[in-house]
Amino acid sequence: MKTLVLASGNPGKLREFRELLAPFDFEIVPQGDLGILEAEEPHDTFVENALAKARHASALSGLPALADDSGICVRALGGEPGVHSARFGGEPRSDARNNEKLVRLLAGVADRAAHYYAVIVLVRHAHDPEPLIAQGRWHGEVIDSPRGTRGFGYDPHFLLADLGRTAAELAPEEKNAVSHRGQALRRLIELLRESA
Ligand code: IMP
Repeated sequence: MKTLVLASGNPGKLREFRELLAPFDFEIVPQGDLGILEAEEPHDTFVENALAKARHASALSGLPALADDSGICVRALGGEPGVHSARFGGEPRSDARNNEKLVRLLAGVADRAAHYYAVIVLVRHAHDPEPLIAQGRWHGEVIDSPRGTRGFGYDPHFLLADLGRTAAELAPEEKNAVSHRGQALRRLIELLRESA
């Protein structure tokens, strides 16, 4: 089995990556288990942040590394919180504060369109000149009152109009089948097969 370091300490993401990569021969080890602290995410684009995280985890572990960078982009807010999604409500990061700020900023705003975006990067070593890069987008709308207890982050406020449910009301396998991260990971797996 091949070991991949996951450059994230987010338990929700770790669970989703393990579920999505379950059919493949990878053992996913979160970087925290190896004593690796989170890298800075100073960039304006998701892909630059994901690359920085993957390189950092690979350099410190000596193993191939997988990183994602993701967020929710709200049309009425000009794409914010975007790359700032994790800490939108300030430090220390808190889903409750993030959601409270999002709902507050959208008070009285009719346009509720939003999408989740995820980019996943896999580097075989820290200086890999050909990182595998895959992205996914998942469209929905922001609702004021939270619904559902599954998922994480903004999920209770992210309504899928076609399903009539929020992302937090979906079973994990339902979310993975359609989510931004699920799309990106399936694309990454195609890239892995193509590059094998
Ligand atoms: P990252 O760890 O810098 O990629 O932060 C991504 C942030 O975006 C998370 O902390 C969440 O706030 C939000 N986010 C990304 N993907 C999801 C998702 O699938 N559900 C809910 N929130 C998400």
